[in-house]
Order: sequence, then structure tokens, then C-alpha cells
Amino acid sequence: MHVFNTKKDLQNYITKNYSPNDSIGFVPTMGALHVGHISLVKRALNENKVVVVSIFVNPTQFNNSSDLENYPRSLEADVFLLEKANKNIIVFAPSATDLYNGKPVSRNYDFQGLENQMEGKFRPGHFDGVGTVLTLLFEAVKPTSAYFGEKDFQQLQVVEKLVEIQQLPIKVVGCDIYREANGLAFSSRNERLTLEQRSEGKLLFDVLSKVKELFGTKSVVELNEMVIQKFENHPLFELEYFEIAAISDLKTAVKIQENQKYRAFLAVFADEVRLIDNIALNYN
Ligand code: AMP
Repeated sequence: MHVFNTKKDLQNYITKNYSPNDSIGFVPTMGALHVGHISLVKRALNENKVVVVSIFVNPTQFNNSSDLENYPRSLEADVFLLEKANKNIIVFAPSATDLYNGKPVSRNYDFQGLENQMEGKFRPGHFDGVGTVLTLLFEAVKPTSAYFGEKDFQQLQVVEKLVEIQQLPIKVVGCDIYREANGLAFSSRNERLTLEQRSEGKLLFDVLSKVKELFGTKSVVELNEMVIQKFENHPLFELEYFEIAAISDLKTAVKIQENQKYRAFLAVFADEVRLIDNIALNYN
């Protein structure tokens, strides 16, 4: 396994061992890897000469300092898991000072409104942090393709916009959501759930699946009410938001248009652990 902690060492290794024509697949992560991450890595391995996985808990995308402090970190186990997938994977695990060339500070981005919906509303500055760290990581790795999970669908849309705005020669690849057997989407944060929260966490997927089933037969208002009711007075989960939105602008849908693709999104708290999930409604 090749693990690098500085941009310089990473770039030296790549230029020494690969030609400029070799395709580089890149999977950015915050570590605490699980099979959801590995599904992205496997796809990248299938489609590229070499794969770089970054492991970096990015301080500028956290608006809540206790969430940042409590974010699980397990570099050794992460490297072990990646090694099992393929020994030639390159791991890039920089310090914040190395990646940011000093103190981590966010740049400001205009993602044409995508950044102000949902996660952007509830996590102010989040997508500036995401845009900043990905710009730095893309400069360091210089990937041909970058792989992102639909688990963070809004992030995927923001990354596509970032690449478009900055005219970067990078193909952005969206990957399916990988779920636990009960339907709960794999997330590094699941490690912080109690056993009961983790098994009852199927509720998130059950609710989204019900919305998908009823989409087109019930109005957006009725679907909203149904979801709010499912979480009302729930002993384990508190709904932060539920939204149905067209994937083109991610704005809250009011009236459903025939020619648009829609998804349903939610964010839920289990005590202080925040979980997000989403589902495609009128397409697969
Ligand atoms: P994170 O480490 O949470 O920042 O995630 C790194 C990448 O893995 C992001 O592109 C996520 O969308 C993706 N990812 C996380 N969980 C899943 C999952 N359950 N299924 C598919 N992709 C995922």
C-alpha cells in the first residue's frame, strides 16, 4: 500500500510511476471507511489505471464543532480495508496544514443556488467548505475521473457544478447508494448509533420508499404531511427536514412537472447523530 501525507510526496510518486496518459480515478472520503465507500473504490478500480483515495476530515465543511470533534477517525483500519480491495491503491491522507498550505480557510463559491437548498440551509457554509477542499484535492491528485455517492446527492450536484464552473478536465461519476441489510444507508456516522437506533434506522429508507410508491398519486403537500407524521413523537428520531425537489435545481417542489426528474431527501437526528438519505422518485 502507498500512503502519502503530503501533496509533494503524492505527486512525486505519481509522476515517477505513471505516465500522463494513465487514467487516475479519485475517491475523496473523510475516512471511517465502510462498504459504501468501497463500492466507489471498486468502480474506480474497474475504470482506471490507478486509484487514489483521499482520507481527510475537512474542518471547513463542518458548521458544528462537536460534529467535527466526534467524527470517527480510523486511518489504520481504513488502510487495511483498502488493501483488501487492491494493494496498488494510493492513499492520500494529508494534514490540514499541508492540504491548505497553512490555516484551513473556506473560499466562497456561487453554485447557482444549489448550495442554498437543504444541507446548505441547515449547515451554513457547508458547500463553500466542500468546494474549497475538492478544489485543493483536485489540484493535488489531478484525476481523470472522480467518484461520488448519490448518498450525498446534493454534494454530487454541487461537484458537477464546480467542475463545470472551473472548466476542470474531470469526469464526475455518481454512484448508487449502498445500504445495510435493513435499508439504512451506510454512513461513517452509523458507528455512533446505538444498536437500537441502527436497527430502527430502517425507518428512513422505509419512509423514502413509501414516498416513492405514492409519488404521482398524492400531492407534494400530502406526502410532506405523511412524512412529518411518521416522525412525530418518535422516541428515537427527530426529523430535521424532508423535501421533494427536482434534481436540476434542488429547489423545493411545489407542483410536479412532467419533464423533470425528482428525488426525495431527508435529514434526521438520532440524539446528536445526524443522518441523511434520499431516493429517486420518478426515475431509477
Ligand atoms: P464521506 O466519507 O462520508 O465524505 O463519503 C465519501 C464518499 O462516499 C462520498 O462521495 C459519499 O457520497 C460516498 N458514500 C458515503 N456513504 C455511501 C453509501 N452508503 N453509498 C454510496 N456512497 C457513499
